[in-house]
Amino acid sequence: MAKADYYEVLGVSKTASDDEIKSAFRKSAKKYHPDLHPDDKVCEAKFKELNEAYEVLSDKEKRAKYDQFGHAAFEQGAGGGAYNYGGGFGGGFGGFSDIFDTMFGGGFGSSRRNPNGPVDGNDLQYNLTISFEEAAEGVRKEILIPREENCKTCSGSGAKAGTKPQKCTVCGGSGQVRVQQNTMFGSFASLHACDACSGTGTIIKDPCPDCKGKGRVTKSTRIVVNVPAGIDNGQSIPMRGQGEHGKRGGQNGDLYVVIKVKPHKLFTRRGYDLYLDMSVPVTTALLGGEIQVPTLNGTVKYNVPEGTQPNTTFRLKEQGVKRLNGSGRGDLFVKAVIQLPKKLNDEQRSLVKKLAESLGDKVNDSKPTKRGIFDKFKDQR
Ligand SMILES: [Zn+2]
Ligand SMILES: [Zn+2]
Repeated sequence: MAKADYYEVLGVSKTASDDEIKSAFRKSAKKYHPDLHPDDKVCEAKFKELNEAYEVLSDKEKRAKYDQFGHAAFEQGAGGGAYNYGGGFGGGFGGFSDIFDTMFGGGFGSSRRNPNGPVDGNDLQYNLTISFEEAAEGVRKEILIPREENCKTCSGSGAKAGTKPQKCTVCGGSGQVRVQQNTMFGSFASLHACDACSGTGTIIKDPCPDCKGKGRVTKSTRIVVNVPAGIDNGQSIPMRGQGEHGKRGGQNGDLYVVIKVKPHKLFTRRGYDLYLDMSVPVTTALLGGEIQVPTLNGTVKYNVPEGTQPNTTFRLKEQGVKRLNGSGRGDLFVKAVIQLPKKLNDEQRSLVKKLAESLGDKVNDSKPTKRGIFDKFKDQR
C-alpha cells in the first residue's frame, strides 16, 4: 500500500514552519489519541501515521531527506537505519502512553538529544459528575487528582539529600551513544539511548528514599474547581498548570475537568433554555386560570388564558439556566398537557352533556342501557 504523504497526514503545507508542524501534530494527536478511542483500529492507525509523519517532519535532517527522496529515504535504511533511534519507536510500536510522553515531553528530538533538558508535564483529564441544578447555578467542588509531581525531598534530582547524581561515564552525560549506519543514500549516524544510564545521562548512587531515585512521586492532590453557572454536559474546564509537573524546569501540564450533568426529573435543557411538560386541568384550559409552574428557583404563578389548546407552549422569560457569559438567563418553555378526567359521575356526566348541547355538539350517550338509534344501526352492519 502506498504511504500517505507526511505533509498531508499532518495537514500542513510543504513550506510549513517547525511551529506549524508541531501545533498541527499536537492538535491531531490529541484528537486521535488511543486512550480516547479504546479498541478503535482506525484511530490507532491514524495516530501511528501521525507520529511517523511528525517524527520525520519535526527533524531538519530527516525532513530534508524526505523532501528529496520521499518515503524511500527511510525505507532503505530499514532495520535500525536512518530513522530508528534504538530504544525509540522506530524499532517497534510500544505502549501508547510512552509515545505520548515522548512526543509531548518537549518534543521527540530534543528530549532524546538532551536528556537533561526540560520536559513538559502531561495534560490530565478528570470526569466530574454534577447535578442539573449545580450546572445551572454554578458550584464549587473539591476533587482529588492523582498526578505525577516532582519529589520535594530531592527537588526532583532523585539523589539522596547531600548527594548529587553523577555524570554517566559511558555516554559522557549525553544519554546517547552514536552508531554509524551505511545505506545507499550515504552513511547516517543513528543515536541510541545509553544502556548504562537508561538515557538520562546521570547515575544515581544514593537514591532519594522518598521517590526511590526517580525524582518523581505520584500524589493525590486536592484541587478546588469553580464550576461556572450555565456549564453543560460534556463541556470541560481547563485548569492551566494543574496537570503533571514538568521535569527539570519544563512546564506543568494542564488539567481538563470534563463535566457530566445528571438529568433532571422535570426539566430538559437545550442551550440555556429549559423545557417542561405541565399538566393543566381541562377546566383551566377552557375557562382560563392560574397554575403553579415549577422553576429552578421555586414555583411561579402563571395565568393560563381562556381557551388554551392542547400542547400550547408558554414562554416564561428568564426562568431558564444562567448564561455562561453572565448575561442573564435562558427561558423556560412550558407545554400545556391538558388533563381530561378518565371517569365521570352522573352529575358530571349530565353537566358535560349540557355543555355539549350548548356547544351544539351531537351527544351520543354510550351507556349500554340507553343506546341510541345510531348505535343499533351500527351493530347491524
Ligand atoms: Zn526524591
Ligand atoms: Zn549513559
